[in-house]
Parts: sequence; C-alpha cells; structure tokens
Amino acid sequence: MNSGGVGNLGRTIDGVYASFAASVMNNSAPLTVPHEARMPTSSTALEARDVRKAYGPTVALDGVSLTVERGSCTALVGESGSGKTTLLRCFNAMVVPDEGVVRVAGEDVRGTDSVGLRRSVGYVQQEGGLLPHWTILRNVSLVPWLANDPDAPDRARRALDLAGLPPDEFGGRWPRELSGGQRQRAAFARALAGEPDVVLLDEPFGALDAITRVDVQRTFASLRAKLGFTVLLVTHDLREAFDLSDQVAVMRAGRAEQIGDPDALRADADTAYVAELLDKAGIS
Ligand code: ADP
Ligand code: MG
Repeated sequence: MNSGGVGNLGRTIDGVYASFAASVMNNSAPLTVPHEARMPTSSTALEARDVRKAYGPTVALDGVSLTVERGSCTALVGESGSGKTTLLRCFNAMVVPDEGVVRVAGEDVRGTDSVGLRRSVGYVQQEGGLLPHWTILRNVSLVPWLANDPDAPDRARRALDLAGLPPDEFGGRWPRELSGGQRQRAAFARALAGEPDVVLLDEPFGALDAITRVDVQRTFASLRAKLGFTVLLVTHDLREAFDLSDQVAVMRAGRAEQIGDPDALRADADTAYVAELLDKAGIS
C-alpha cells in the first residue's frame, strides 16, 4: 500500500468501494493518463468471452460471452443472484475471472493499468455508494483525485453540473443532505468525472420512486446523447431495459440465456424462461 489514505477509506466506507479505491491506489503505473491513451481503438467497447467465476461452491458466472458495441447501451436483466453484478464488475477489474477473457476497447483488462481503466470506465454501484463522511464535491472528485489529477475539483464541478446538481448549491453538502434522486445524480456525476468512454450502472434507478425515477432516467438519456459513452446497465426492471437499451442480455444462473435487441427478444424468445420473463413484465 503506498498511502495511508486507503486505510482511512477502509474505515469509513463500505468494503466494495474500499477495494475499488485500494486497487486504484495500489497501482504503481504512472498516475496521469493522457486522454489520447484512453481513446477507444475498437468498434467493440466491451467484450467478455467464455467468462467463468466461482466463489467457493457458488458459480457466479458459468461461461458468459457478451459484446457491447461502442456508443450503445446494453441491459443485463435476470433474477437476483443470476450473476449480473459479477459480470458488470469484470469490466472494471473489480472481479477477476477464473477463466475467459474480458476486453475494454479491444484491450484485455488484465494487461491494462487500473488507474487508466477506472478513468475510462465509470461505475455507479448499487445504492450509489457515496462515501457518507465525504462532501458531494469530494465524492465526485474521487476518480480523478486518485489519479493525482490537479483538475479533479473542476472536473467534479463540471460533472455535477451535467448531472443536474449545481455545484455551488450541492458540492458542499453531505450525502445525507440529498434526496434519493439527488444522491443518484451525484453517483452519476462521480462516474462521469473521469470523462469515461464506458459507464457501468448497477441498478441505478432501483431505489427511486416512480416520478423521480423517470426524471433521473431522462437526465441519464440526455447525458448519453450528449457525451456518447457506452453503457452497460444492470436492472431487474425489464421495461426499463427494453426502453433504454439497444441490446438486452437475459442472465440466468451465471449464463446469458439470450442476447438480442429488444425487438428480436419480443419477436422470438429462445427459451420458455425468457418467454415467461417477458410475459410477467407485460412485454409482448
Ligand atoms: P446479481 O447481481 O444478478 O443479483 P451477483 O453477480 O451479485 O448476482 O451474484 C451471483 C452469485 O454469486 C450469487 O449467488 C452471489 O451470492 C455470489 N457472489 C457474488 N459475489 C460474491 C462474493 N464476493 N463472494 C461470494 N459469493 C458471491
Ligand atoms: Mg446485483
């Protein structure tokens, strides 16, 4: 460990983000990454090939393959425990697969320096994951700050603005002083502050009431249109998946049961499981 800061983080935040922060901090690679070095080199933004991951006897991913084209949005749907979060985290190297290959912009993530990866791949974890004892501005500065970027506060202010939270009004507040929708906007801002090419979203709208949800979804859609980043979105709401995505992957027991665009899935469910899932969500 190269800094006492991670120890402090470990005491104040949940384990997931601590491990994220620690893995960035522990990286010995150069701490500033020129933007050109992060530009996508492939029309495929994300690719998983035959990925397997087990936790003891639990097989979380059982040979998953998925391709996400640059600039598109793919939704991962499926019941709880089907491996959605585990697959998502393979793309920012928070999960290291036992087998298979994971590529971001054509590069195997195993050979990619983690600071560059965390900047080019934004992440909104389930429940937002804001650090409760950090102000909103400091939370949103996290990724560029970890990369020793002197412009981190300015980037954070810009990202807050983009996410619909004027920084002068919200930057100095604590997470608990925000509504659920505002916290989720701050989580988006944090994911955007590194100017990522890809954004990974784990049930970002899940905890919001219906009206706030639509509001935050709209902001998200307009940010996507404006900034052009690639999205991988985990949701258990099939309607949301069908509305927001170009491609839907139905996960079941660590496998991708069917992957296709919403129209293809509607027209032709490959399995009885997929047909039943669509039917239950009232999609036909
Ligand atoms: P989902 O996001 O679809 O609900 P997850 O990817 O979180 O599913 O989990 C898939 C399976 O892997 C579940 O059975 C879960 O309990 C298990 N799992 C995920 N992460 C871990 C972990 N760090 N340690 C042990 N088991 C895990
Ligand atoms: Mg999950």
